[in-house]
Amino acid sequence: MLMTKERRPATRTIEGWARSVLLETGAIRECEEHGWMRDRTDPHARDRAFLIARHDPPPGVSAERAVAAIEDVLGSIGDTCPECPPDAE
Ligand SMILES: [Zn+2]
Repeated sequence: MLMTKERRPATRTIEGWARSVLLETGAIRECEEHGWMRDRTDPHARDRAFLIARHDPPPGVSAERAVAAIEDVLGSIGDTCPECPPDAE
C-alpha cells in the first residue's frame, strides 16, 4: 500500500530522514524562494508520515524513535516561511 520505499534518499541523521518523509508525504514543503521548510498543516499528510515512521523506520532505528523524530521536525517547523511576506500566498 505505501509504495514509498524505493526512492527515499539515504540520509545521515534521523532528523534528515524525518524531514524527507514529511516532504515525501506533503506534510511540509520547501519555500521555493528561500528554502525554508514550512508546515502545511495537513493532517492526512502527517498521518502518512507517522505511518511510514511506524512501519518503515530507517535501518537500526526503532519505530518509537522514528515517530519521535517526525514529531520533533514538525515541532521545529513553522507554517509560514520566515522570509516571505505574510500575505504572499
Ligand atoms: Zn519564503
